[in-house]
Amino acid sequence: MVDSLDDLYQELIVDHYKNPRCRGTIPDPSSQCALRNPLCGDEVTIQLTVENGIVQTVAFEGKGCAISQASASLMGELCKGKPVSEVREYLLRFTGLMKGDLKAGEVDELGDAAALQGVRKFAARIRCAMLSWEALGKCLEKEAA
Ligand code: ZN
Repeated sequence: MVDSLDDLYQELIVDHYKNPRCRGTIPDPSSQCALRNPLCGDEVTIQLTVENGIVQTVAFEGKGCAISQASASLMGELCKGKPVSEVREYLLRFTGLMKGDLKAGEVDELGDAAALQGVRKFAARIRCAMLSWEALGKCLEKEAA
């Protein structure tokens, strides 16, 4: 069973890499942040439109490994249309997921983004998965400023 669950996760990640959601640019974002992961060569730019405390739009552009790009796609899909307070929770939870200190119920709250939990077995790839989330966090800091 563990193997088939891994396969399912693998399919989700590959699907988001090949058919990214939320990819593109917003003409007039309320915040944006570009980050690089020199260890792997990943680049991700996250743009947000926040209105009335809601993350109305998430867009990303980037290039790099499947993990980094799929993570941006999964993050965007999870966070768009959600209140900023909820998105902050997702960010904390995803960071916890990568550190391996989430309870099972908390993992479920991340929806499809939980598919990336297998990454934490590979220390060098955690930065790939975190890149778009770190950029999201910097965007939220700018929104709060
Ligand atoms: Zn990478």
